Amino acid sequence: MDTFNKFLPLLIFIVVAVLVLKFLSPLWLKFKLKRIMKFKPIISIEDKNGFILYLADKAVRKIKWTEIDSIELAGRQKLQLLFRDKSVLSIQEKEYEGWLSLVRATPENMPVNNALSSYKADRFSNLSCCKVCGKIAVKNDECLNCITDTYEKYCKDAEDFGGEIKTERAFIKENQLDWFTGFIDGSKVDFYAKEILYDDCPGWAPSVTAFEVIKYEKKLDDANPS
Ligand SMILES: [Zn+2]
Repeated sequence: MDTFNKFLPLLIFIVVAVLVLKFLSPLWLKFKLKRIMKFKPIISIEDKNGFILYLADKAVRKIKWTEIDSIELAGRQKLQLLFRDKSVLSIQEKEYEGWLSLVRATPENMPVNNALSSYKADRFSNLSCCKVCGKIAVKNDECLNCITDTYEKYCKDAEDFGGEIKTERAFIKENQLDWFTGFIDGSKVDFYAKEILYDDCPGWAPSVTAFEVIKYEKKLDDANPS
């Protein structure tokens, strides 16, 4: 009994630590990832002519597809862009945000190596509709456009973590509020903005209103005044 009393505080500590880790680690990880990603250069596809690199020192480099001779996938996640002027630009997935968009945007007539063409075919074949953003961009239970898991994946994860499971309608609404704050234009929200990389889902309609999105964004602003 004495030994038990001696180890009781330790036992309580372990139980509390496990519970805290179990419920807080996904949140902590998300926060940490966001912070790390903040400092990565961003690849942005804004039209069909090329792409833009927003670099860490606020420099912006616009690159046109016509400047590039060929693109190769070297190793698992490294693109080698070989320019007409013989310069080479290496773009590794872990160093850039939007790496996959660049792969997706590579024009059909761009000379690429076999590794890149099979990676592209594999990564972007059989896409299905995302109920959150309304684009045909879901692969392996994650939307490549709005980076939201499918409801099915969310339910599975929620079960694994033992959390409360939202209804599909609540799940979609919540993620749409997050996603469409990026599409606010004055008092309107462009729910049907054309996306260069992914086609529209036929018949898709948002489950939130412009009013709700704007109200949600205001609430976020009030919570994080800059
Ligand atoms: Zn989506």
